[in-house]
Amino acid sequence: MIPAQFDYQAPTTIDEALSLLAAHPDEAKILAGGHSLIPAMKLRLAQPGLLVDIGRIKDLAYIREQGDQILIGAMTTHYQIESSSALKQSCPLLPECAAHIGDVQVRNKGTIGGSLAHSDPAGDWPAAAIALGAVMVAVGQAGERLIKADDFFVDLLTTALQPGEILREIRIKKGNGRSGHAYQKVPHPASGFAVVGVAVNLSLADDGSCASSSIGVTGVASKAYRASSVESALNGKQLDEQTIATAAGHASDGVDANSDLYASEVYRRHLAQVHTRRAIQAAASRAH
Ligand SMILES: Cc1cc2nc3c(=O)[nH]c(=O)nc-3n(C[C@H](O)[C@H](O)[C@H](O)COP(=O)(O)OP(=O)(O)OC[C@H]3O[C@@H](n4cnc5c(N)ncnc54)[C@H](O)[C@@H]3O)c2cc1C
Repeated sequence: MIPAQFDYQAPTTIDEALSLLAAHPDEAKILAGGHSLIPAMKLRLAQPGLLVDIGRIKDLAYIREQGDQILIGAMTTHYQIESSSALKQSCPLLPECAAHIGDVQVRNKGTIGGSLAHSDPAGDWPAAAIALGAVMVAVGQAGERLIKADDFFVDLLTTALQPGEILREIRIKKGNGRSGHAYQKVPHPASGFAVVGVAVNLSLADDGSCASSSIGVTGVASKAYRASSVESALNGKQLDEQTIATAAGHASDGVDANSDLYASEVYRRHLAQVHTRRAIQAAASRAH
């Protein structure tokens, strides 16, 4: 449980951090809250030669509203999101999801940017980011680029971030008046990570039917994914019990489900269906 030897730098500007990453392309790794990276280093699953600690860069931890968008700095901790009264009004799915992460210690140190950039298959934020249609702002030496959540999670622990890029900000569009959100999770009893986590963001039309739905699922496969078949089975329909149950039956369509000592593939698919149904029901009831 002792990491391999490494150097440490704590730049105070993004430009300085980008220069360090560019100067050490094969050995540098960004350190945010350290709650995924440090355990990986202690197990020697990661052996970076240089840690670039972005915790001292000013203005990377914030929650702001700008027009119809919510802007969240990458270094914003899970706890800052969980306890934000502004977000409880404008985007309650974010505080709800944050409250499910690990324990108080993890939520006080871990950051939304670190979690998204890590793309842990059992991480909570990726499901919420997909359901909310989040846009990631990545910055590199060539400038900034925007990456949609649907394109961001590429595979197990792999995102669309290029080497040398820093995830700087997460952008989320505010919902309309008749929108409802919910996050449902089965936590692993030892780690708290998601065996299954389902984030739902839906809106209702004037006649009460489902005008749009957006559903992100984590824990089931090698990366978080959009449950498109569930969305198609909901859109345009009245959200009665039968419609919701039938739609939720498609929660793991088209994915290779994980299997481990705690949850077999069959059990995981079952949990995904049950918790998708519950999350849709909760979101629909909140949208009324
Ligand atoms: C006991 C325990 C329980 C946990 N339970 C849960 C849980 O229930 N749900 C959950 O979702 N997570 C859980 N976590 C993980 C926790 O949420 C981590 O904080 C999170 O996954 C990583 O965020 P971090 O800020 O700690 O990132 P770090 O560990 O510092 O970094 C993680 C990775 O992302 C990269 N990175 C970090 N920030 C950036 C950035 N801005 N741009 C580009 N790359 C970046 C790093 O180089 C590294 O590869 C748990 C962790 C522990 C230790």
